[in-house]
Amino acid sequence: MSCLKPETNIPPQQKPGAADINSAALMQPRAPEPTPKDRRNGAAVKAADASPTGFYKPNYNIQTPNMRSPDYVQMSTAAAITLGVMQGKMHRCGCTRCLNLLLTYPEGCRANCAYCGLARHREASRDYADRNFIRVDWPAVPMAEVIDKVARDGANSPFHRMCISMITHPRSDEDTVSVLKAWTDRIDPKAIPVSILSNPTTMTRADVKKLHELGSDIFTVALDAATPEIFDRTRGKGVDSPHTWRKYWEILQDAREIFGPQKFGAHIIVGMGETEYDVLTLVQRLVDLGGHSHMFCFFPEKGSLMDHLPATPRDQWRRVQLGRYIIDYAGGRVENMAFDDAGRVVGYGLPQAQLDGIVDKAIAFRTSGCPGKFAEDISACDRPYGDSPPSNIASYPFQPNKRDVLKIRKQLDMPVKRH
Ligand code: SF4
Repeated sequence: MSCLKPETNIPPQQKPGAADINSAALMQPRAPEPTPKDRRNGAAVKAADASPTGFYKPNYNIQTPNMRSPDYVQMSTAAAITLGVMQGKMHRCGCTRCLNLLLTYPEGCRANCAYCGLARHREASRDYADRNFIRVDWPAVPMAEVIDKVARDGANSPFHRMCISMITHPRSDEDTVSVLKAWTDRIDPKAIPVSILSNPTTMTRADVKKLHELGSDIFTVALDAATPEIFDRTRGKGVDSPHTWRKYWEILQDAREIFGPQKFGAHIIVGMGETEYDVLTLVQRLVDLGGHSHMFCFFPEKGSLMDHLPATPRDQWRRVQLGRYIIDYAGGRVENMAFDDAGRVVGYGLPQAQLDGIVDKAIAFRTSGCPGKFAEDISACDRPYGDSPPSNIASYPFQPNKRDVLKIRKQLDMPVKRH
């Protein structure tokens, strides 16, 4: 799947007249198909043992090579285009500012998160390095080549940040350290800061400390679910996956103490059955701890256990984006906001003129994540079309223009002309 093609298959709740929230009752994962023995744990890739020969573009019609981190990493399609190892253009984006790297192994991620394209149950049909993740392919590249290219570009590098995404694998902690060390040996982390997208399930406080000592700048925890119940249902016991809410919060607290204020955060996916009140209460909790929230709009990832479900309706998503921005960057608080009986935001607790100013500035509707070199509230990690097709953008990977703002105002049911 490419990030470049608009999709015409709009899920039902994005269509006019559809429901305006993804309810808890609706957002139930399906059961996985059983995995044949000869497909488990990367068995097919390991049995064929094809040697990698450099850049590998995901292609499930050919034998997937036997690639392993720390020698190999995968990267987003946007990062591969920006790095110059792949041809392509991105709708209304010149490049991405974040080099998102993903650890890779034939065994893949051993967790089974229901919304994720990398989940373990997919080994039944697709080798790990060929799986789509946040709507795009993730080509594999030798780590030494990645470092060579970025080091060669020096101060002219388009990247404002690098991020290592860990997965649930017995080697993930050790290999994250190796990838980070290899990077900081050649590239000054002050010039291109490094974020860690962690996997708390396999980590200890000592692992968090080590990653900080080695020069990483921001540590995030992909909580993903906004409540303990949704966490359990989508990435814990409900789908035979090893994660627990308690362990994720334990590592988040460690990150808070070790990385310090504004240098830790959590990912949250909006639209998996929580209310807008639930998610904004969590955003407030993170801000009160000194951290940030990075938001994703739920999209039914092809091949995942939630691929039959609707994407988050745009009005629900926009209200949460706006509320989150107000709490994270405009000094607002969830207690000052108003919610209806279904937990929808009906008031943001700000004077109308200030609210209009925030909406028109439109940074609230850009992709959220770790900052780059433009401003604290502008994410380097712009993830082009990672949570929506270009035809119906959820997170804008660029600065929305006047027409975009008009569309956003309509989605928010806010007047498009003010007096
Ligand atoms: S741990 Fe992360 S990569 Fe693995 S299945 Fe869950 S969300 Fe996907």
